[in-house]
Amino acid sequence: MSLTTPEAFERLQHACTPVLDAAGFMAGEQAEPRYCTDWSGGTGRPLAVLRPRDPQETARLLRILHGLRQPLVIQGGMTGLVGACVPQPGEVVLSLERLRSIEAFDAQAGTLTVQAGVPLETVQQYAEARGWMFPVDIGSRGSCQIGGIIATNAGGNRVLRHGMTRQSVLGLEVVLSDGTVLSRMGQALKDNAGYDLKHNFIGSEGTLGVITRAVLVLQPLPATHLTALVSVNGFDSVRKLLSLCRQRLGAGLCSFEVMWRDYFDAVTVGLATGRSPFEEPGTHLILVEFMGNTPDTDTATFEAAMEVALEQLPSAQIVLAQSLAEAAQLWAIRDAAGEAARAIGPWAGFDVSLSPDHMERWVQAVHDQLRRDGYDALQTYGHLGDGNLHLVIGHVHGAGAREQVADLVHRSIGALGGSISGEHGIGISKKHHLGYCRSDAEIAMMRSLKQTLDPRQLLNRGRVIDLPATL
Ligand SMILES: Cc1cc2nc3c(=O)[nH]c(=O)nc-3n(C[C@H](O)[C@H](O)[C@H](O)COP(=O)(O)OP(=O)(O)OC[C@H]3O[C@@H](n4cnc5c(N)ncnc54)[C@H](O)[C@@H]3O)c2cc1C
Repeated sequence: MSLTTPEAFERLQHACTPVLDAAGFMAGEQAEPRYCTDWSGGTGRPLAVLRPRDPQETARLLRILHGLRQPLVIQGGMTGLVGACVPQPGEVVLSLERLRSIEAFDAQAGTLTVQAGVPLETVQQYAEARGWMFPVDIGSRGSCQIGGIIATNAGGNRVLRHGMTRQSVLGLEVVLSDGTVLSRMGQALKDNAGYDLKHNFIGSEGTLGVITRAVLVLQPLPATHLTALVSVNGFDSVRKLLSLCRQRLGAGLCSFEVMWRDYFDAVTVGLATGRSPFEEPGTHLILVEFMGNTPDTDTATFEAAMEVALEQLPSAQIVLAQSLAEAAQLWAIRDAAGEAARAIGPWAGFDVSLSPDHMERWVQAVHDQLRRDGYDALQTYGHLGDGNLHLVIGHVHGAGAREQVADLVHRSIGALGGSISGEHGIGISKKHHLGYCRSDAEIAMMRSLKQTLDPRQLLNRGRVIDLPATL
């Protein structure tokens, strides 16, 4: 049972305020809009907003909420796209935004120990100023937090080279729903002493524990940073280009971002954000990014690879960025995804993944079906090297239409062995489709984990999976 009566609110306030300072407790009706909505657009008013100052205070609060059997929604930077952070009736908000300390930097090991509420961009800038790079990079970098990117196992533009967020987390501190602190702030890459528990929490979308601190793995800051925009005709050429780049550029290949013409035109012509450098762009436009640490030869290696692409792919046209400013202009086309989607609102966005072997066939079939159903404002782009594809469908009016297009996309991707979420997670909005890409046995195991770690179902209840009634 959650607390919803005035008496229950008073009980909550009475229990929490001794732990918190004046800025740490806010009644729900006074909560600013930013605690009531995330990027999914859903809204809800919490019973109260709790803003602990540090990990210890967070653990004390969780012990109190556990005693009160009070459900809570965990909020990071609120840039999630699956509605997980929107307060549901009777929930309190636990915001990590005040856990902002960068606790330690190890210049020898290349690690950074940070609290959960530090924004991603702050971590990136801190590392760069010291000759290192934190490789996770996503469009919401200015707002999303380290706790949020770990809880969602965020992907982004550099997964091809550096993996998902999971690969950049060496140690993790988590508070369980009853206030127990699991702290394994590991500093060694090798540690096989039993189960590596941190992986249960990475990508669990706040359903299993509250992330309070992390040890992040940094990479040496690359000396060279080269970008090309390649235009080709036909998906087959896209795949050949990827294979060629992998072979020629090796570990230096950081990004391989594909934009279908529907997206490219929507940005360069529709929005006039960025400009197409090609008079006649092909069917697919690819941003290839190379980062290296051998300045004497990196440019020659990259240019040689692009020359081979021109020789082997008859339809290819290539523009090499001559400076970081020119590279930024090319990336602006890819980074305008949010703006482009809003221009065809109300829109429904999908973030699927599947084997590149099936990708062209799937895109074609889904596009055809959507057009037959009257949806012709489509935008298609993705991190092809990772099998991750984004599809935005415009002019989707009403909940019925939204469900119809979601069912088409998710059912068909599941049928091909793909996933209904490459990056953004399941949250609330995709929960009812989880069975399209996860077996009954897998979902039963997820439920069992939730039951074990949070038997009262207090953390992010109803996100990712549903459980039977609470204890
Ligand atoms: C413009 C834009 C571009 C984006 N690009 C990408 C992209 O390229 N790749 C990608 O993967 N995602 C992308 N996203 C989605 C989103 O930014 C990521 O999911 C991000 O990791 C969320 O971080 P956050 O701090 O905003 O988390 P929130 O939105 O606040 O929360 C997300 C989930 O994590 C949980 N959570 C947050 N903090 C904690 C914590 N400390 N402990 C436990 N649980 C927690 C929440 O309860 C919720 O379930 C994009 C979003 C936008 C708006």
